[in-house]
Amino acid sequence: MAVVLLAGYYLPSEGPCSEPVTYRIGSVDARFGLTPEEVAEAAEQAASVWEGASGRDLFREDDSGAVEINLVYDYRQATADRLRDITGKIENTRSYYESLRLWFATREAEFRQRRDALMQDIDVYHERVRDFDARYESASRSGGITEDLYRNLTESREGLDEERDSLQSRKDELDGEALTLNDLVMLINQIAQSLNLEVVNYQTTGKPLKEEFQEGCFEKKNGFQSITVYYFCGRDHLVRLLAHELGHALGLGHVDNPDALMYRINRSGSLDPAPEDLAALNALCGGKE
Ligand SMILES: [Zn+2]
Repeated sequence: MAVVLLAGYYLPSEGPCSEPVTYRIGSVDARFGLTPEEVAEAAEQAASVWEGASGRDLFREDDSGAVEINLVYDYRQATADRLRDITGKIENTRSYYESLRLWFATREAEFRQRRDALMQDIDVYHERVRDFDARYESASRSGGITEDLYRNLTESREGLDEERDSLQSRKDELDGEALTLNDLVMLINQIAQSLNLEVVNYQTTGKPLKEEFQEGCFEKKNGFQSITVYYFCGRDHLVRLLAHELGHALGLGHVDNPDALMYRINRSGSLDPAPEDLAALNALCGGKE
């Protein structure tokens, strides 16, 4: 006679790694210069990094996949592209970084010079406005403005208006340059971090600089899972970024080794999982089957 236990309750639940995480390529902004197919290839290569390490089928691309991968173009990649236009390339190398800093220092010095000159010209302008007001007032007080004086004052007034407009447009231009410099600092620091170098602290607008920016992220919101990529410098960098985010999609958290795939910053060039990556993978999925 069989004793009926509540067998259903004892069925082993399906753990992580037992079924492949499915993903699909969502939107790929054309400005990244990659087709969705090329992104799919990069994702496949990223997935194979974990699959090779675990000996399991962990990921599968599927048109109705659970994790949507999107490449979103914003100020991060835009700054990088601007920089590439100016310097002819962009790469995570020491020599590139050094030349970038030199170039930036020159550009920043120019900016400071132009700003100082503008400040001086603004002071002169204010002086001339005060002078004008004083002349106008004294003329009114002394009982009337002659035709000559009126013409003279009108000319001064027009001159001052022109000067003000020109100062304003110089200021607008400099404000734009300050924002550009801040974006560049952010990017230079991003490259510094991927090279494991000290982060520089230029300050051009008086505003606190943005922290290191996120190159990409994995999100799980209202049952919707997505990987968003914002910035990468070269295909290998993208594959590594995708490997990191797919790691999150699988259930991996961050590890402490800066060279690891699952380190919080994408700073090593290697696509080989570090021992810490393997330990985390092993803890999540169990050993090789
Ligand atoms: Zn992460």
